[in-house]
Amino acid sequence: MSGKIQAIRGIRDILPEHAQIWRTIENRIIAVIHSYGYQEIRLPVLEKTDLFARSIGEYTDIVSKEMYTFPDRNNDSITLRPEGTAGCVRAGLEHGMFHNQTQKLWYIGPMFRHERPQKGRLRQFNQIGIEAFGLEGPDIDAEMVLLTARIWRLLNLDKLGLELNTLGTINSRQHYRTILTDYFTAQKDRLDNDSLRRLETNPLRILDSKNPDMQELIENAPSIQDYLDNESAEHFAELCNILTDAGIFYSINPRLVRGLDYYSKTVFEWTTAALGAQGTICAGGRYDTLVEQFGGKPTPAIGCALGLERLIELVLQSGNHTITDVPHAYLILVDSKATGYGFRLAEDLHDKLPGLRLMTHCGNGSIKNQFKKADKSGAMYALVLGPEELVNQTVGVKPLRQDADQENIPRTGIAEYLKQRIPGI
Ligand code: ATP
Ligand code: MG
Repeated sequence: MSGKIQAIRGIRDILPEHAQIWRTIENRIIAVIHSYGYQEIRLPVLEKTDLFARSIGEYTDIVSKEMYTFPDRNNDSITLRPEGTAGCVRAGLEHGMFHNQTQKLWYIGPMFRHERPQKGRLRQFNQIGIEAFGLEGPDIDAEMVLLTARIWRLLNLDKLGLELNTLGTINSRQHYRTILTDYFTAQKDRLDNDSLRRLETNPLRILDSKNPDMQELIENAPSIQDYLDNESAEHFAELCNILTDAGIFYSINPRLVRGLDYYSKTVFEWTTAALGAQGTICAGGRYDTLVEQFGGKPTPAIGCALGLERLIELVLQSGNHTITDVPHAYLILVDSKATGYGFRLAEDLHDKLPGLRLMTHCGNGSIKNQFKKADKSGAMYALVLGPEELVNQTVGVKPLRQDADQENIPRTGIAEYLKQRIPGI
């Protein structure tokens, strides 16, 4: 093979400098989700192609042109999951989790879509998904909004907007679809190619067009809000009431449709103006018929997915994160004879101070060189074990971020010494 091997287009590495930020943010989000009683479920990345074709919808962008689909070695068609809900429903049904019970679940992991790579749009990207099964009222819709709103607050993101819409029950949507098809058919000569295609297959998606030339036509299209049956209208009105009572600001966007066919009733998106064109960082909605469609008993459900690339980009941009996992201390072993003793000391410190981030020098080298590495690691303290310290049963402590002399601390007192000086360990 000649030439350098590089990552696949639209698929990127997350290097240590960013990975620490990712993990910290993920952990904070997960802590919020757990605090609302949701449980983790770990789902496979590969599924049978049929699962997605049957749930997301044959004519959606995802299924018609974005899926990573391959024959495996037995010639069975398999797909790298483009989203998590379908697999979650499959797993819940397969393990009898929806029968006469409610489930509140979450998962995290990579999703795959063969889209045109650009800022905020990758071919492998990461989502945290949150799903609730067996609850039909608008209260759970509201809870999901409140939960996500809490995540934004915790991450100090205060400029996110919430857009809400309802797609109605399947029946009322069918009716609206006819009305909309008639409207766009009458204006066929003003439709772009994408919209012409969607007119045949998925007319609601025309409303989602980003083409500026189409906006006036879309603005004037009949609104789904005017074609709701009672059940859908009441559900939506109640949701709006609960959110208002709970102090959540939202705007109703009757053009908000989602790119997947399985949604019904409530749909929502959290968006930001700070990321350019790819401004949706969390999106979701109800999918009350999906479980049944897969052969289960009717089970109402709602879910949403947070796009982690966009979310983390926003946190970084906002500049108000305090995320660091640079080591607190760097252990310098002046003499290779100190290695065994040094590791005993390091293990002892890890035992006594579970929050301490201690990096032990490996690879020998001069004291000068080791001090350089300690400095570069960002550590607050260098701990030094040289021949003298070995004999005297002490540890040298040199503050690296302030101008101060090295102190010699008795070996038995070093854990206490660090504990008093490093907050939160
Ligand atoms: P968009 O309208 O941006 O294409 P979508 O409707 O396809 O989004 P969902 O399938 O609902 O998005 O996924 C939920 C979230 O996952 C999105 O709001 C976004 O934050 C993120 N996401 C979706 N596709 C990508 C992608 N290709 N790259 C990065 N993040 C993505
Ligand atoms: Mg998309």
